[in-house]
Amino acid sequence: MQQNEPIYRLRQVTKIFADKNVQTTAVDHVDFDIYEGEIFGIIGMSGAGKSTLVRTLNRLEEVSEGEVIFDGKVLGDLSEKELRATRKEIAMIFQSFHLLNQKTVLDNVTLPLKLVGVGKKERNKRGLELLRIVGLTEKAKAYPAQLSGGQKQRVAIARALALQPKVLLCDEATSALDPKITEEILNLLESINRTMNLTIIMITHEMKVIEKICHRVAIIDHGSVAELGNVKEIFANPKSKAAQKLVLPTLMGDNPFDWNNECYRIVFNGFAATEPIIANLVQTTGENINILSANTRSVGGIAYGQMIVELPKEPQGRKRVLDYFAQIGITAVEADREVVV
Ligand code: ADP
Repeated sequence: MQQNEPIYRLRQVTKIFADKNVQTTAVDHVDFDIYEGEIFGIIGMSGAGKSTLVRTLNRLEEVSEGEVIFDGKVLGDLSEKELRATRKEIAMIFQSFHLLNQKTVLDNVTLPLKLVGVGKKERNKRGLELLRIVGLTEKAKAYPAQLSGGQKQRVAIARALALQPKVLLCDEATSALDPKITEEILNLLESINRTMNLTIIMITHEMKVIEKICHRVAIIDHGSVAELGNVKEIFANPKSKAAQKLVLPTLMGDNPFDWNNECYRIVFNGFAATEPIIANLVQTTGENINILSANTRSVGGIAYGQMIVELPKEPQGRKRVLDYFAQIGITAVEADREVVV
């Protein structure tokens, strides 16, 4: 993706809210590029600053410091008129769909075209084509109340595409949907990204959304970028505490255990995950290890696995195990109770 031009350049973007006596730095010197054609994820816990950050991307929020540069234009420098024109290139979908209930599906989809003066015949033709893309042709005459949540989000996606935007911002777009429907919507977004080369920015608090379709991800913590990079690399080896918290939260499940200094988190990739690693380790080193928790998942078709293991208490034995991991290319780091439990 990096070979493409940046569609967004964020330069030290900062947003400070000043309410009465309280100052909140919601976004703190955020600085990264988003490239044309990529699916870029922005993830963080609740209150991390995601919504504020995404609102700076179409200047729904004015920045306190720094610059958001979209397609070569500094958003903060645009006149009202220029901003209106630019916003047509930046579409957005939301958790709550924002459809007009009194209008049919087709009228919802074609509304942006109507607002820019496209005639009825032409806009209905384009509207039906958009509904075909999202798989809802047969619902053109239905009203939003007659649709499921997933179908409503498809209508919102069709409407978002009406003006052929350069970017689609998705703000928690699947958070209100059940897992199966989430998967379908993510598949649709992925196919739109591929077929139309549309840049998609996914704002979410759910790591599974990131794993499923994002190419790169920025992890936001207390308003700052804690970690940024290729999704597969971050999943395989999350370095920051914020990334570890997001990648590992389900690892321990409901089974707390006696925590001690011999607990390690080991991370292995698709190749290694298929190997009988523990059996080989025991055979090779003569040491036993205790698996406290294990979790594997598939990211982009490659299996990643993580385990929390308890290594031998005796330092020599522990070293033998760690050396073995190093030798076969497995990352083993002392597990941090704070981020694992
Ligand atoms: P997220 O989307 O990651 O949950 P937000 O961007 O909504 O995070 O919020 C980040 C921080 O900024 C929070 O501490 C929140 O309380 C604060 N905040 C957000 N909007 C406002 C506002 N309009 N006025 C004051 N504080 C705000």
